[in-house]
Amino acid sequence: MISGKEFEAQRAEAAALIGKAGIPLQPGEPEKIEVVDFGLGHIRVEGLQLLTMFDTERVAGRILVMTPRQTEPEHWHPPFGDNPGKEEIIRACWGEVRFYLPGEDTMSRGFLVEGKEHLYTMRNEVVLAPGDTLVLEPGSRHWFQAGEEGAVFYSFSTRVKDGADGFTDPRVAR
Ligand code: ZN
Repeated sequence: MISGKEFEAQRAEAAALIGKAGIPLQPGEPEKIEVVDFGLGHIRVEGLQLLTMFDTERVAGRILVMTPRQTEPEHWHPPFGDNPGKEEIIRACWGEVRFYLPGEDTMSRGFLVEGKEHLYTMRNEVVLAPGDTLVLEPGSRHWFQAGEEGAVFYSFSTRVKDGADGFTDPRVAR
């Protein structure tokens, strides 16, 4: 696990990046930013910060924030009950974020986490700039990574069940 101090620094940096993106927050919301290290213990390398704007039984909206060169581990959102799995729409707001999806290897701007190359199997690169939109199909494997300055983007999705997500890296604890 990461230390409390590291966690707080990460949260403060995420709040500052949301400010740079020009997204207004309610008082008290900066304190609600979740810092997720996936149990991997190196938040600056693999991790994510997120703020839930709304989350009902059917839809959710979140602000996702990545610090510079941070990578979200490869994962997918499996079906549950009669739900085919989370369908997610990404809308980029600030900085560069790169998504890696099924398909031909076109990776050129991004990089694989050192020593964990085999745990990042999707190599079809989609680079999003502010204003770009990407639809992630339910059940499809993906991972993403911020550019040199970090990135801020929205995630709008059908019902969220983070605990059900599958990860390529068996060491991930969500
Ligand atoms: Zn996802």
